[in-house]
Amino acid sequence: MANNYDVIIIGSGPGGYIAAIRSAQLGLKTAIVEREHLAGICSNWGCIPTKALLRSAEIFHYAEHAKNYGLKIEGSVTADLKAIVARSRGIAERMNGGVGFLMKKNKVDVIWGEAKLTKPGEIIVSKTTKKPMEPQAPLPKNALGEGTYTAKHIIIATGARPRALPGIEPDGKLIWTYFEAMKPEEMPKSLLVMGSGAIGIEFASFYRTMGVDVTVVEVMSQVMPVEDTEISNFARKQFEKQGMKIILDAKVTKVEKSANSITAHVEKKDGKVEKITADRMVSAVGVQGNIENIGLEALGIKTDRGCIVIDPYGKTNVPGVYAIGDVAGPPMLAHKAEHEAVICVEKIAGLPNVHPMDKAKIPGCTYCNPQVASVGLTEAKAKAEGYDIRVGRFPFVANGKAIALGEDQGMVKTVFDKKTGQLLGAHLVGAEVTELIQGFVVAMNLETTEEELMHTIFPHPTLSETMKESVLDAYGRVLNA
Ligand SMILES: Cc1cc2nc3c(=O)[nH]c(=O)nc-3n(C[C@H](O)[C@H](O)[C@H](O)COP(=O)(O)OP(=O)(O)OC[C@H]3O[C@@H](n4cnc5c(N)ncnc54)[C@H](O)[C@@H]3O)c2cc1C
Repeated sequence: MANNYDVIIIGSGPGGYIAAIRSAQLGLKTAIVEREHLAGICSNWGCIPTKALLRSAEIFHYAEHAKNYGLKIEGSVTADLKAIVARSRGIAERMNGGVGFLMKKNKVDVIWGEAKLTKPGEIIVSKTTKKPMEPQAPLPKNALGEGTYTAKHIIIATGARPRALPGIEPDGKLIWTYFEAMKPEEMPKSLLVMGSGAIGIEFASFYRTMGVDVTVVEVMSQVMPVEDTEISNFARKQFEKQGMKIILDAKVTKVEKSANSITAHVEKKDGKVEKITADRMVSAVGVQGNIENIGLEALGIKTDRGCIVIDPYGKTNVPGVYAIGDVAGPPMLAHKAEHEAVICVEKIAGLPNVHPMDKAKIPGCTYCNPQVASVGLTEAKAKAEGYDIRVGRFPFVANGKAIALGEDQGMVKTVFDKKTGQLLGAHLVGAEVTELIQGFVVAMNLETTEEELMHTIFPHPTLSETMKESVLDAYGRVLNA
C-alpha cells in the first residue's frame, strides 16, 4: 500500500528530521509530516536565526570598539535593522531548504499538512490550520498531501511553543514572543524582558548591544536560573556593566498597555511594586509542548506537565507510538532532540546495544555576551547530591589568548568528586565558551578523572587552556594564576 510506512514522524524539527534520516539510513520506509516549516523551530525561529542576530550585534560591538584594536572607523557605525533581520531570515530559509534537500537525498517522503493519530499505527493528515509566519522555502517536489497514512511505528516530534502567563498574554504588538522579537520592524528604544532563561537573556543581550535600554525581570534569585550561581553572577555583572538593568526575585504581575508602550507592574520580594514603562516587552517565561489536537487522549498516551511521558528510548505507554524532542520534556534543546531521535529509531530498528538517553550529560549553551556554557552538576547540586567535592576555577584574565583577543572577562569552573576524581560538572562564562564546552562533554562521557585531564595537552595559545588550568586549580596545581 502506497500510504503504508515502517516509520512516520510527525514534525520536522531537529528531532523529527534527524529521526527521518536515521530511519531511512537503516532501511526503513519513512515519511515525515510537517504543517508549517521544514526544520522546525530551531532553524526557522530558534537556535539559528537568533545566532544570526547575535552575530550582527557582536560585529556591531566590535566596530563600535574598533579603536581598542588599533583601528579607526571614520564616522559612527550605524545598524540597518531591516538588513540585519533580512540576513537572519535568509539564513533560516537556507536551513529550511537544506532539510528539504536532506529528505530528498535520503528518500524520505514529505507529507504536507497537520497530522493526528487516530489509532496506533494510523494518522490522518488534514489541511494545515496554522498559517506559516512568512512564505517558506519551496516544498520538496512530490510532497504528499492530505489523507490517511499508516505505519508500524509513529514518532511524535511536534515540538513546543511559547508559554504565556495568564493576564500577560503576548499580543504580537506590544508584548512579543520570540517570533516578534526575532523580526522587529523598528528598534524599540526600551525593552522589558520577562524571564532570564536562555531565550530571554539572548534577546536581552541582542537588543542591549544594539543600543536598546533593556530591563530584565527574573522571578528567581539569579539570571539563567539553571546555571551555576557563581557563573550566573559573573555574567550578570557583565550584563550590568553593559548597561542592562536586571531585577531579580521579582515578578511581573500586571501589564498596562498604551498606544505604543507598556507599563509593567513588577512585584519585588518585599511586596513592593515598581512600575516600569517600556516600548515593548518580550515574554520569555518558557515553552510548552505541542500536545493538543494530535490524538493523544483518544489513544490514552500519558502526559505530564504538558509533555509526553517516555522511557529512555522514546517509547510512550502505547506500543508503536514514540515521542522525542521538546514535546517529550526538558531540557528543551535541539541537540537533546537530535540525540533522542537517533536512540529512538535505532531501538525501533532493533540495533543491538542502543544506549538509553543520559540526561545528566547534556550540555547547555547560551549565546549572550559573555557566552555561558555548562554540563553536569553545578556546585550546589553536587553538594545537594551528597558529593564531597573539589572545585577549580580559572579566570580568562590570566589567559594569553583571551587577552590577545580583547576578551579577558570570563572564567572556567570545574567540579570534581573528591573521592574518585570524577569530573561532575563544568561551567564556563566568556568568549567562545559555547565551543569550548564540548571538550568537557567528551571528557565526562568518557568518565574522565582529574588525572587524565591533567595529562592531556592543550594547545597554546588557546582559550581552552583555561579548562586545563581550572582542573589544575581544583588540585592546588594551577600554573598561570
Ligand atoms: C528563540 C529560541 C532560541 C533557541 N536557541 C537554541 C539554541 O541555541 N540551542 C538549542 O539547543 N536549542 C535552542 N532552542 C530550542 C530548540 O529550538 C528546540 O529545542 C528544538 O527546536 C526542538 O526540536 P523539536 O524537533 O522537538 O521541535 P520543533 O523544532 O519545535 O519542531 C516541531 C515541528 O513540528 C511541527 N508540527 C507540530 N504539530 C504538528 C502536527 N500536528 N502535524 C504536523 N506538523 C506538526 C511544527 O510545525 C514544527 O515544525 C531555541 C528555541 C527558541 C525559541
